[in-house]
Amino acid sequence: MRKFVAGNWKMNGSLAANEALLAGLQAVPGVEVALCVPYPYLGQLQRRPVGLELGAQDVSEFDAGAYTGEVSAAMLADFGCRYVIVGHSERRALFGDDDRLVARKALAALSCGVVPIVCVGETLAERDAGQVHAVIARQLAAVGDVLGHEQFGRVVVAYEPVWAIGTGRSATAAQAEEVHAVIRGWLAEQGVRAEAVRIVYGGSVKPDNAAELFAMPNVDGGLIGGASLVADDFMAICRAA
Ligand code: PGA
Repeated sequence: MRKFVAGNWKMNGSLAANEALLAGLQAVPGVEVALCVPYPYLGQLQRRPVGLELGAQDVSEFDAGAYTGEVSAAMLADFGCRYVIVGHSERRALFGDDDRLVARKALAALSCGVVPIVCVGETLAERDAGQVHAVIARQLAAVGDVLGHEQFGRVVVAYEPVWAIGTGRSATAAQAEEVHAVIRGWLAEQGVRAEAVRIVYGGSVKPDNAAELFAMPNVDGGLIGGASLVADDFMAICRAA
């Protein structure tokens, strides 16, 4: 399976800063690279290095209409987005995106041909309480209930332990692999073609830990936050995939 590396710029950037960043990026042979950028910059990113895919960081569950402030999956498709992140832990923690809403957003994306990158992951308290597998199964099941096993086979799953995001404290390669293997097993149990689903890791991926993480048999790539804002670092991570 071709590795997949997506940059999650979060709420960062400006027209000028993005130009400078894009000047340092290029496609990496054999790796699919995507940039998930804030909505206002989707227009600017129409001009981006050849071979880089475009994505967004959230999407509305609704199709169109009187939903002030929302952005539909059709609009993302209109701008050539191939991907959209749904259920990022920051959205779950700060903006009330719960399991069912995440599932409806994933469905809305797929309905418009946009591939959802469905984020799952436990907090430190949940890990310490031995609930990692239960939490992830709950988060995935909510999506599975809405999508069904056939559509579920089209999503990207991002395992992002909350304690590793933006903390500089990545999961070890062994910790990531253990959970990725559980996720793939869970998908297979549900009748999803699990071997075809890309399961990527996110949480403090840096140039110096990327190769080890990506070498794990069930780690199909990464979702990169902070390091995706530094061209050399992001390129090094993509080359490590
Ligand atoms: P980080 O963020 O790489 O800065 O830890 C990852 C993410 O939140 O997707």
